[in-house]
Amino acid sequence: MIELDGSVGEGGGQILRTSLSLSMCTGQAFTLDRIRARRSKPGLMRQHLTCVQAAAKVSGATVSGAEPGSTTLVFEPGPVKAGDYEFSVGTAGSCTLVLQTLWPALMLAESQSRLKLGGGTHNPMAPPFHFLERCYAPLLRRLGAGSDLDLRRLGFYPAGGGEINVSVHSAAETLQPFDLIERGRPIESYAECLAPALPGAVARRELDHLGRALGWEAEQLRTPPVRQNEGPGNALMATLAYENVSELFTQFGERGVSSDNVANALVKEVRAYEASTAALGPHLADQWALPLALAVWRRGGEGTYTCTELTDHATTNFSVIERFLPVQFVTLALGGGWSVTVRRIA
Ligand code: AMP
Repeated sequence: MIELDGSVGEGGGQILRTSLSLSMCTGQAFTLDRIRARRSKPGLMRQHLTCVQAAAKVSGATVSGAEPGSTTLVFEPGPVKAGDYEFSVGTAGSCTLVLQTLWPALMLAESQSRLKLGGGTHNPMAPPFHFLERCYAPLLRRLGAGSDLDLRRLGFYPAGGGEINVSVHSAAETLQPFDLIERGRPIESYAECLAPALPGAVARRELDHLGRALGWEAEQLRTPPVRQNEGPGNALMATLAYENVSELFTQFGERGVSSDNVANALVKEVRAYEASTAALGPHLADQWALPLALAVWRRGGEGTYTCTELTDHATTNFSVIERFLPVQFVTLALGGGWSVTVRRIA
C-alpha cells in the first residue's frame, strides 16, 4: 500500500488524480490522507469524487472514503477494463480532469474505449477542452497513444452542461518515449473568444484588445460559432502552433472584470511563452510528466523535455509519479527555462 500525504507540495486535486491514474496503471493500492488539507474547502469536492468513482468503475476498485468532504481515501484497483463509459460531474466541475484521470489507464488497456463525459469543458484551474485537443492529445499521439476527441457542447461555470466524447485507442504495444527539446518552426498563432449567450461586443472587445497588444491581424482573431443552449460563458484563448508542439493559453471573462483586463492577462501568458524558447508552457510541463514517465517505465531508457517554468504543480507531480513508478525526474535550469529528464531506475 502506497501512503501519500495530499497536503504536500502544491497540495491540490492533481495529487489525487495522478495517484488514481498510476494506481490503475500499475495495480498498486494507495491511501491518500490530508486531501486538499490547505484549501479553503478541504477534502473531496464533486469533481474529485467523480474522478474517484470513474477510476473505481474502470478498474473495479475497492474504495473507502469516497464521500463529499472526505480527507482520506483508500483505493485498491482491480484490472482495468476497456469499454464504453459515461460519467458526469453533475456540476460545472471540470470533465476534462476526469478524462485526464482515466486516459493513462485506458490507453494501456488492450482495446479501445469510448467515453462520454459531462460537466465543465472550459474551467479556470483546469485544462480547457481545446487545450487537450490541440496540445495534449497530439503529444500523446507522438508517444504512440491515439485518440479522437469531440466537443459536443460547451460547459462553463456555473451552469456546466458541457459534453465531450472521446475514443482512447490502445497504446499497450506502441508507447515509446521521445524527447521534446525544440518547438520547431512556427506554423500559426490565433485567438478565439468563446462567449455563448453573451453580447457579441464582449468577444469583439477582448479580441481587438488582444490583437492590438500582440500585433495580430484581423484573420488571427476569431469568434467560432456557438450552438444553441450553450453558456453563458466567456473564454478567451490564444493558440500558438509550432512544428513540434502547440500551446494554448486561456483566460476567463467574468462579471466585474473588464474585457481589457481579460485580454491583458492573456497577453501576459503569451508573452511569457514567447520570451522563452523552451518547448512546453507551464501547464503542459506538469501534465506531460505522467504520460512520458509511463512510456519510460514501459519501454526503458529516458525522455527529456524543456519547459518555460517549473511550477509547484509540476514538481509535486514528479514526486507523486516517483512513488508509483521506478523512475526518477532530474531537472536542470537553462537560460529562460528548464530541462526535465525522466529516467527508468530499475
Ligand atoms: P489542481 O489545481 O491540482 O486541481 O490541478 C489543475 C490542473 O489543471 C493542472 O494540471 C494544471 O496544469 C491544469 N490547468 C490549470 N489551468 C490550465 C490552463 N489554463 N490550461 C491548461 N491546463 C491548465
